[in-house]
Amino acid sequence: MGIGMTSAATRQRLVRRLADEGIRDPRVLAAIGEVPRHRFVDEALSSRAYEDSALPIGRGQTISQPFVVALMTEAVLSAVRPSRVLEIGTGSGYQAAVLAQVADRVFTTERIGELLRTARQRFHELGLHNILTRHVDGLAGWPGQAPFDAIVVTAGGEIPSALFAQLADGGVLVGPEQHGAHQELIRVTRSGDDFEREQLGAVTFVPLRQGLE
Ligand code: SAH
Repeated sequence: MGIGMTSAATRQRLVRRLADEGIRDPRVLAAIGEVPRHRFVDEALSSRAYEDSALPIGRGQTISQPFVVALMTEAVLSAVRPSRVLEIGTGSGYQAAVLAQVADRVFTTERIGELLRTARQRFHELGLHNILTRHVDGLAGWPGQAPFDAIVVTAGGEIPSALFAQLADGGVLVGPEQHGAHQELIRVTRSGDDFEREQLGAVTFVPLRQGLE
């Protein structure tokens, strides 16, 4: 593997590209510049880690596209100062690592044990000690750690009401909602018992599934 393809300079090109595509928040751009995305994919794919595309991570799952990771992180930061963030769908661990740069603590859940073990190893190697992981069906959230300032759902489907109930007052949920064959990224803001819904554009995520593997 040529070192040039995974260098900090290569990562800065990705940051500039995301800025050109409309990501404005300097905290988000700094977080993308900080996290070595090549460490979140198989070595055979590391030369492609700083392209703005989703990549396979095994078990039929994908690491999200950097633009979408940036967009979701920006959607959180423009609404709250996130102390506690819950993620549904650890996958490679990349989105959690980006969130860990801008939040005090990240709680991330994954239903496929094999993916979670690999992600945990990466968090350990990169010294990301503010990420807590759990091998559970994330459709139930993480009631023991609720409420959360932000909940980020990184698989597409019908977002369960259990998650909205675990939002702090003023908190936001960002995630893809399934509408027939299409997915729409939404942000839902809680004010007391009111939930305000905004649409942030079309996205493509792997599906939310039930149960553990
Ligand atoms: N955030 C990840 C994206 C991974 S793809 C990253 O940055 O790499 C989405 C992940 O959600 C997959 O790993 C999939 O197994 C997981 N997933 C799907 N349904 C889930 C559920 N009910 N609970 C927890 N994880 C789930």
